[in-house]
Amino acid sequence: MKLQLQNVSKIYPSGNQAVCDMNLTVNEGELVVLVGPSGCGKTTTLRMIAGLETITSGELRFDGRRQNEASPRQRGVAMVFQTPALIPYLSVYENMAYGLRRQGLSLAQMDERVRQVAQQLELQDLLERRPSTLSGGQQQRVALGRAMTRKARLMLMDEPLSSLDAALRDQMRHRILDIHHQTPTTTLMVTHDQAEAMAMADRLVVMKEGRIQQVGTPAQVYAHPANLFTAGFIGSPAMNLLQGDIEGGWLNIGAQRFPLPDAPGWRRARKVVAGVRCEQIRLDTKNPRDAQARIQIRSWELLGWQQLVYGTLEGQPLRLLVPFSQPVSPGERLVSWNPDAIHLFDPLDGSALDPE
Ligand code: ADP
Ligand code: MG
Repeated sequence: MKLQLQNVSKIYPSGNQAVCDMNLTVNEGELVVLVGPSGCGKTTTLRMIAGLETITSGELRFDGRRQNEASPRQRGVAMVFQTPALIPYLSVYENMAYGLRRQGLSLAQMDERVRQVAQQLELQDLLERRPSTLSGGQQQRVALGRAMTRKARLMLMDEPLSSLDAALRDQMRHRILDIHHQTPTTTLMVTHDQAEAMAMADRLVVMKEGRIQQVGTPAQVYAHPANLFTAGFIGSPAMNLLQGDIEGGWLNIGAQRFPLPDAPGWRRARKVVAGVRCEQIRLDTKNPRDAQARIQIRSWELLGWQQLVYGTLEGQPLRLLVPFSQPVSPGERLVSWNPDAIHLFDPLDGSALDPE
């Protein structure tokens, strides 16, 4: 099924504008992830799509057909809630089968579906248990299973992995992706965790304060953040952002200057915020075409196969990733980056500057 939001807004009766003029298409079989900090309108968006919240203005379409007035049941959407809403007096099996009878399935068909999904989510041994005897993570898997057995044409998932511990979360990520690849149901998932969004999404939708900031594949959003918010939010460690100005194809930060790629938009004099990712900065290597900077190294931490080095460039914080085998010491050092690695943003509205 193809899901479309056209100029969708939500203003709660309290006057709170939770979602503002949202435009989004999720194509048949696509897994799109809405990502943004707490309170940015992710849950509200899912609830409007499921029919649990009214849409203040704009249109919701499934395969081109307007759904604004349709009841949740008519929309036929499966939703996994952030806190698993299981029926306490039913077993795991009965929770997962719940609602299948309404779909007109025979008992044998229901049984086959429940057991198939239980196997995919490793719930076979829990089928006779009551929800109250399960851990939070197990309950969340049952909630996921219940949504999956319905084989709905649209799957909505609100932070489905947030109640799991780190190891199980990784495992479930890949389980959900496996299942999605086997049977690609149109899916809109929500998370506040950018790493989870990057790992799972066919396309990301970055949100802030009720507004979409950027839509794209994880690789596009990582490589070309549309604004300062996305630049700082997507990617870990976060992109370095430095105040400076540009003039005649040079970037000035404090008393140091660095070459920029040759582009008309980057010759005009103006104030900028310059962004460079930690992994693009090298310690102690000298390629004549590169920008070279003197930085002060203050501290570093071992991340495993890399070290995250904390320094300052002209008094502004700068972090870089270096191989764990490379010696690091405090004090002044030279670092370099390829001029193409620089992102430039407007310091006033935060938008990425167009090199053209
Ligand atoms: P998220 O899921 O991204 O954390 P929500 O969609 O839950 O964000 O909330 C978005 C905004 O709408 C927040 O400012 C929140 O306080 C507000 N909000 C959510 N639900 C209601 C409600 N029922 N009534 C009034 N305001 C609400
Ligand atoms: Mg939420």
